[in-house]
Order: sequence, then structure tokens, then C-alpha cells
Amino acid sequence: MPDDSRIFPQQSCAQGHATISVILPMYNEAEAIAPLFARLIPILEQLGSDWEIICIDDGSRDATLSVLEHWHRDEARIRVIKLSRNFGKEAALSAGLLAASGTHVLLMDSDLQHPPESLTEMMAIQARGVDIVYGLRRSRRTEGCVRSVLSALFYRLFSRAAEVPIPANASDFRLLSRRVVDALNALPEQNRFLKGLYAWVGYSSGAVLYDVAARRSGASKWSFFKLCGYAWNGVISFSAAPLRLSAFLGSFIAALALIYAAWIVVSTLVFGNDVPGYTTLAVAIFFLGGLQLLSIGILGEYISRIFDETKRRPLFIVEDTIGFKDET
Ligand code: UDP
Ligand code: MG
Repeated sequence: MPDDSRIFPQQSCAQGHATISVILPMYNEAEAIAPLFARLIPILEQLGSDWEIICIDDGSRDATLSVLEHWHRDEARIRVIKLSRNFGKEAALSAGLLAASGTHVLLMDSDLQHPPESLTEMMAIQARGVDIVYGLRRSRRTEGCVRSVLSALFYRLFSRAAEVPIPANASDFRLLSRRVVDALNALPEQNRFLKGLYAWVGYSSGAVLYDVAARRSGASKWSFFKLCGYAWNGVISFSAAPLRLSAFLGSFIAALALIYAAWIVVSTLVFGNDVPGYTTLAVAIFFLGGLQLLSIGILGEYISRIFDETKRRPLFIVEDTIGFKDET
């Protein structure tokens, strides 16, 4: 866990000045920035409170950083954190959460798939004392059929396996209260499955429905395999169920083997010695061998998480910041 006072010495989260902080992770989003700000800033102005926009340039290879610098020159409340390489969205969001000083912190995608207009409704709900207001997709029509079926399956499995259920279709589009942000910042783990962590920290939550727009420009950075990896990571970080499953399967098969052994003894005594089948042996060897490899693989997944945690590397490295106080 990076020490925020070292990375953002200018920040003092407890006595932040902005009321609303908007965190925007950006990976090759140069074309999306102008239309995004054109919609977002009027909403922030309308709400009448002090605001800041924190853009995290997650190692973009296009003009994202120079476009952001240009915007910062006109509007000092647009601040930028440049990470030293692409660390992934979760790390970028973690950087933003550490840097945000607002009492209300909005997380949203930069590709305008999350409508900034929903912020008004989210703020109204948070004003009633709800700590986490998350955007709930009205439909997943911008996604393919396979992807939505798989994602529904994932939420069902996750809710069964993990100690904390996460609402299906809840996105990373969220308004968090200060105490939720402080709680998230205090979590020491390196493997950050944010969707699970929001649920883990607790506090009250409410939903706002929104329609997912099609991406305005660029392409989604999530390939099918990346998404599968993300889902698997989520399950492993939040549940020991796969381990229990392999223990269960192991004992179940051992019990079956005992029953089968008893059957062989009885049949030999009753029917005389008959050479037992070669097929049975082959099937048993392959089946058990496969199961053992699977169990070792699952164990390995958990051990690799332990390995990651013990290295205690920071979640991200900040190369540069623009627009934070006390900057030289
Ligand atoms: N993003 C990021 N780092 C990455 C991948 C994505 O900061 O490595 C940002 C991206 O710029 C966007 C948001 O995360 O603002 C969501 O990404 P994307 O649109 O690719 O995901 P999808 O909407 O397809 O889930
Ligand atoms: Mg997107």
C-alpha cells in the first residue's frame, strides 16, 4: 500500500477543500476528453459546490496527457496524475482515491459510457445519508449476448462463494462518501478487486439506474480473456470456496474408492476371483490425476496471491502530478 503522504504530500484528505471530487481513469482516451468535460463540468457547476476533477493517465500512449495539460491551463481544478506505465484501471482508481480531497467522490469511466447527468440524482441520494450510491445498468444492450450471460453467471457464482454479495450489474460508476474513501484507502491489500471491496467496507448503499451509452471513441480495453481473468481474480480474492471445493471433491472420491474396495472384496469372496477391469484402472488414474492437478492449480492461485501480498510493492508509481497544491 503506497503511503499517500509520500506520493501526494500536498494532500491532506481529512480537511479537503473540494466538496466533490471526480476521479477519471484514462487509458488512451485523448478523443473522449473534450466531449466528456463539456458534459461533466456544467453538471458540477450546476450542483453549486466546490469541485475538482482528478484524471489519472494510466500510461496512455496517445495524446491524453498533453490534452489534459491543455485543459488544466484553462481550468485549475482539473488535476492530473500521470502513472509511470499502464497499471490497469483498478490501480488508477486507487491512485485517484488517495488523491481525492472531496467529501463526495465520484468514480466514472472517461469514455462517456457513464452519463455525468446521473451525478445530480446520486448527490440527492447521498444527501439523505447513503454512503455508497452506485450506478445500476438499466440494460446491457451495448454488450454482446455471450458477455451478458457470462457476467450474470459470474455475479451469481460470486455471491454464492464470497462472504460479501455484490449487486449484479452494479458498475464502477459510483459516488462514495468521505468515510468510505478513507476506509478503502486504509485497506492494505495489493490485489484490489474494487467491486468486492466496496461491499466489504460496508456502510449503506443505494442505486441509481442509468443507460449505458455506446463508447464514444476508441475501443474497450477489455478483451474477453481479460474479463475472464478479472472475474477469476475476484473470486480468488474474496473466497476460499475453490479450495473447499477441491477438498470436498477429494473426500468424496476417497469415499467412493472405499466403497468400491469393499465391493471388490465382497465380489471376490462371493463370486470368486475375477480379473478386475483394465478400463476401471485407466479411468481412475486419469480422473484422479486430473483432479490432483486441478487442486494443485487452485492452491497455486492462492499462493501466488500470498506471494504478491508479501512483496508489498506499491499499487502504482506516480511519475508526475499536475495541478495539486504546493507544486513547484
Ligand atoms: N482504463 C484504465 N486503464 C486500463 C484500462 C482502462 O484507466 O488499463 C480506463 C479507461 O480509460 C476507461 C475505463 O477505465 O475510462 C473503462 O475502460 P473501458 O472502457 O476499456 O472498459 P469497459 O467500458 O469496456 O468495461
Ligand atoms: Mg468503457
